[in-house]
Amino acid sequence: MVPEDRSGAATAAPLEVHGITVTYGEKPAVFSADMTVRAGELTAIVGPNGAGKSTLLKAVLGIVMPLAGQVQFFGLPLDKARDRIAYVPQRASVDWDFPTRVIDVVLMGMYRQLGLLGRVRQAHRDAALHCLTRVGMQDFAERQIGQLSGGQQQRVFLARALAQQADLYLLDEPFAGVDAATEKAIIGVLKELAEEGRTVVAVHHDLSTVPEYFDNVLLLATQVIAEGPVSTTFVPELLHKAYGGRLGAGQVIGALAETV
Ligand code: ADP
Ligand code: MG
Repeated sequence: MVPEDRSGAATAAPLEVHGITVTYGEKPAVFSADMTVRAGELTAIVGPNGAGKSTLLKAVLGIVMPLAGQVQFFGLPLDKARDRIAYVPQRASVDWDFPTRVIDVVLMGMYRQLGLLGRVRQAHRDAALHCLTRVGMQDFAERQIGQLSGGQQQRVFLARALAQQADLYLLDEPFAGVDAATEKAIIGVLKELAEEGRTVVAVHHDLSTVPEYFDNVLLLATQVIAEGPVSTTFVPELLHKAYGGRLGAGQVIGALAETV
């Protein structure tokens, strides 16, 4: 019996995916993917360019329609779990064509708490500022988001996700194109979320940091090649299977050097 309310959180997985297939044209971008994400852990979705990583996240969130498959969040369909999920898309896909202050971007993450017509009170502003502080962006609250560097924007998007107070965070390449300090700040926050019992799933392309950053790996190459703890999935044989000729042996060995 699937629990119908928040009390199901203790028993149902934060994310359970069965047989998701997505096609844009004739060829599937994701084929029959299964995924089970465990609570309070960090899971990386890893695979070569075009492997379907972004598509899998979008299909899970109903942003693209899968041809087949089922998705449950905390044992519930998306519509009943929406307020427990935060999504940070790949940065390149966000285009700010109108001036918006950083603090307002973060407040947007709180609209469910505010209600559509709810007034923004000082308490909300304080909460938004606290989220900016967590990502080291408190001094930029009044700046226009479009005027920030890519890495700074990425921190703000993470602050907005934090403001949502979600239980499950889905991030698409949160470290892409950010500087080392930002990367450190972001992984620090993600680890804090996991320590609070929240769940993090991130598309990640830098193999060298997988063992340091994540508990689990889903290896994707249109199909799921492997899923499980880093120690059993992040191994040369499976990485070769996922990357095929697209990854030099040196890169695989380099990535694994950290695990041993
Ligand atoms: P990844 O995030 O792993 O790099 P994507 O999920 O973005 O991969 O893409 C998977 C495949 O689907 C690629 O071959 C890509 O070209 C294709 N694809 C992605 N988005 C679209 C789209 N909107 N329309 C058509 N094809 C797409
Ligand atoms: Mg992608």
